[in-house]
Amino acid sequence: MGGVEDDGPPSKRVKVSSGALGGLSKGTSHREQAGCSLSDLMAQPLASQGKDEVVGSKGLVKKVELVRIIAEALYSLGYKNTGAHLEEESGITLQSSVVNLFMQQILDGKWDDSVATLHKIGLMDEAIIKLASFVILEQKFFELLDGEKVMDALKTLRTEIAPLCINNDRVRELSSYIVSPSQNVLDISSDKEARLKSRKKLLEELQKLLPSTVIIPERRLVHLVEQALDLQRDACRYHNSSVREMSLFTDHQCGKDKIPSQTLQILQEHSDEVWFLQFSHNGKYLASSSSDCLVIIWEVKLDGRVSLKHRLSGHQKPVSYISWSPDDEQLLTCGVEEAMRRWDVTSGECLYIYEKSGPRFYLLWMGSRWKKDLFWRY
Ligand SMILES: [Zn+2]
Repeated sequence: MGGVEDDGPPSKRVKVSSGALGGLSKGTSHREQAGCSLSDLMAQPLASQGKDEVVGSKGLVKKVELVRIIAEALYSLGYKNTGAHLEEESGITLQSSVVNLFMQQILDGKWDDSVATLHKIGLMDEAIIKLASFVILEQKFFELLDGEKVMDALKTLRTEIAPLCINNDRVRELSSYIVSPSQNVLDISSDKEARLKSRKKLLEELQKLLPSTVIIPERRLVHLVEQALDLQRDACRYHNSSVREMSLFTDHQCGKDKIPSQTLQILQEHSDEVWFLQFSHNGKYLASSSSDCLVIIWEVKLDGRVSLKHRLSGHQKPVSYISWSPDDEQLLTCGVEEAMRRWDVTSGECLYIYEKSGPRFYLLWMGSRWKKDLFWRY
């Protein structure tokens, strides 16, 4: 997720199914993207954070949460120095100190300490704790193997990983690495950088496991802004503008003037109610159908006015539906409980009459659009 390099040893880690993680946060490491080291963040002093302080006129927005998602947005945008300054100036850290400690312990390979800290993070769901512990201890197992501490790895597997009862298949798979060390491809023992990368990868997996109350979801601020714009657009009574016209600087609202309200032309060729109207895809034509059993094809002139092109007669019942072919060369019309007709737009000639009987008629009709392949079979 989020463009984080996938250069860790995925085959080595337990695969966590989406089912097993139902309802959990999908937060990922924004630090990885921003290149902000954990030590930088941990260096920030923890000032009094005024947890109950709110901003805004409605008292809905907690200042601490607002500052944290702004900081997260800054890091996500790559402004790591600005993000760090914000944390320093506000005294509000992006993550809690215990989460920072936990993350640092992971990076330092202090597995037992990190598992202990995991229990202090404030997770309410025991299943998440066990799952996260499994992932951590798996990394411990592999690093022990890489350090040729086979007996220690075996002990970790038997006394720490297996008792979690998370994934018995995976436990058996891990045991096979002890039996056949050649399978162990986590070649990091002699390469500090590779080891750190592997641990960062582990950290990313852990961040996905932890709920958003612990680690802020990625790009949370942008998501909230998008939500606000969506709501404004949905609430816009006279909405008739493109997304590009929306701005973060003002609340969106289309004026009444956005709705066409001036009569430019009155088309009076039909002798009864008009039941359906549709412009062609290229905008050059307009087709209308009516209770008078007629279909009319109108040509749209360059000045926007329309003129009668063809009067399509043949339906015995009012015509309730019109559909243009994808290339706008043909028109499909359907009478009420009557045959469907296919017309040539250029000549106005009826090309085919699809009688009401037969399932294909209904299939085409139900689709409410052209099923070209079917038509060409006739
Ligand atoms: Zn609008």
